[in-house]
Order: sequence, then C-alpha cells, then structure tokens
Amino acid sequence: MSYLSLQDISKHYPGKKKNALQDFSLTVEKGEFIAIVGPSGSGKSTLLNILTGFEAPTTGSVILADRNITKDAPKDRDMALVFQEYALFPHMTVAQNITFGMKIRKTAKKERQEKLDWVTKELGLTEVLDVLPKNLSGGQRQRVSLARAIVRDPKLFLMDEPLSNLDAKLRDQVGDLILATHKKLQATTLFVTHSQEEAMSLADRIIVLNDGVIQQIGTPQAVYEKP
Ligand code: ADP
Ligand code: ADP
Repeated sequence: MSYLSLQDISKHYPGKKKNALQDFSLTVEKGEFIAIVGPSGSGKSTLLNILTGFEAPTTGSVILADRNITKDAPKDRDMALVFQEYALFPHMTVAQNITFGMKIRKTAKKERQEKLDWVTKELGLTEVLDVLPKNLSGGQRQRVSLARAIVRDPKLFLMDEPLSNLDAKLRDQVGDLILATHKKLQATTLFVTHSQEEAMSLADRIIVLNDGVIQQIGTPQAVYEKP
C-alpha cells in the first residue's frame, strides 16, 4: 500500500465550465520528493488545497497512511505547509512564530531552543529573531514559514513555491536545506514550482499538470530529456 494516494479526484468550482482537476489519480511512496509543475491555471493550487483540506474534492478520495482523510479538517491532517498565503502570526516575532507550534505540542523548552537556534542559523534568520513579520522582506517571511514547518518534524511536507522570493544564492542554500531536511526526517514532500531547474535538482519524480490532468509523470530525466 502506498503512503499517499489520490483516487479519481475531480474538482468543480461553481460557475466554471471546466473542472480544475479531472479524474486525477496519483500514488506516492513514503520518502518520495515530488515536484508539481505546470502553467498557471493548470490545477496545482487546487491539488495542494485538496491535500490540506482547505478545499473538498467534488469526487474522489485522499488516502494517507491507510486512512481515508478526504473529509478530515485541515487541523486533523498531519502535514506541514509552506504556502505563500499561509500567513505568519502578525503579532508574534520571528522566534515566537517558529516556536509556537512546538509550544502547543508541549515540546520541552530546551529542545525548542535548540531547534530554533539550529533552524534560524541554517536559514539565515538569526538577525531577525525579535522582528515582527510586517518588518521582514518577502524572502525572510518565506524562510520563517519554512522554519516553522521544519521544526514540526513532519512526515509530509506540502510546499507552494517556497523558493520563489529568494535570490539565486539563497535559493540554492534553502533548496539544499529542504532536501537535507526531507532526507533526515524521511519525509514525503510535494513541492509546487514554476522552475524546471528546481524540479530537476530536487525531485525524485516530476508531475506536469495541464488543464487539470497529468500531462507527464516520471523522473526528471524522463520528463525533461529529449529522446
Ligand atoms: P494553478 O495553481 O496551477 O495556477 P489553480 O488550481 O489555481 O491552478 O486553478 C485551476 C483552475 O481552477 C483555474 O481555471 C482557476 O480559475 C480555477 N479556480 C481555482 N480556484 C478557484 C476558486 N476558488 N473559484 C473558482 N475557480 C477557481
Ligand atoms: P543530529 O543528527 O545529532 O541531530 P544535526 O547536526 O543534524 O545532528 O542536528 C543537531 C541539532 O540540530 C539537533 O539536536 C536538533 O536540535 C537540530 N536539528 C537537526 N535537524 C533538525 C530538524 N529537521 N528539525 C529541527 N531541528 C533539527
């Protein structure tokens, strides 16, 4: 049995002629790193929103670790999200944003501090620990939301363009950290990106979405190399 399975998912939004996803099926093994690429409007966000539970599929099921989670609320799904619109708490500092989830889960103070030190060092955030989100750059905010996700030690990461606001150097660095964390935690990762280069360098398999259907799926070599 595969770790994550999407079975015949279709999604219809009111007033739309075409389905955002059409009979979409996919199985993902534990430990896989999947990149999802495709033009704007191809259904990438819809797919992530169905996985998180922010949207319900019109038909079809989502099975995670042998459990049918199609109707579970977002908070009951054990996944870590790195989404642009998944806002940081505006009244909390960077450090508080990163450690909040660990407090809720009653992680010991010493471990919280260790993880905060480690992750902020890795992500170049040590200078902004006491800063509020509104005073951060877009790239810093993106790294804080990544830090917040990483310290959860999740089994499943869902990431929506987590490198898009970073300059080239940080993009490489943070991309390396994402991959290292994925491996260290033996996590499963679904990663939406516009960048063929990112997909090539990070993913075990790439899914090319088009008009709500899988146009291509395979290893980076199979998808991008000319025959
Ligand atoms: P992508 O993330 O690849 O840009 P989306 O999943 O956002 O694609 O969109 C897929 C299709 O679903 C598009 O035609 C889009 O207009 C439509 N869509 C997405 N979200 C909504 C919504 N909340 N209401 C109506 N239509 C939507
Ligand atoms: P170790 O294998 O002993 O954890 P690392 O150098 O990988 O060695 O990690 C050192 C410290 O960094 C750990 O004790 C932990 O606090 C923190 N750390 C490492 N990986 C993660 C992670 N994925 N999430 C949170 N903290 C981490």
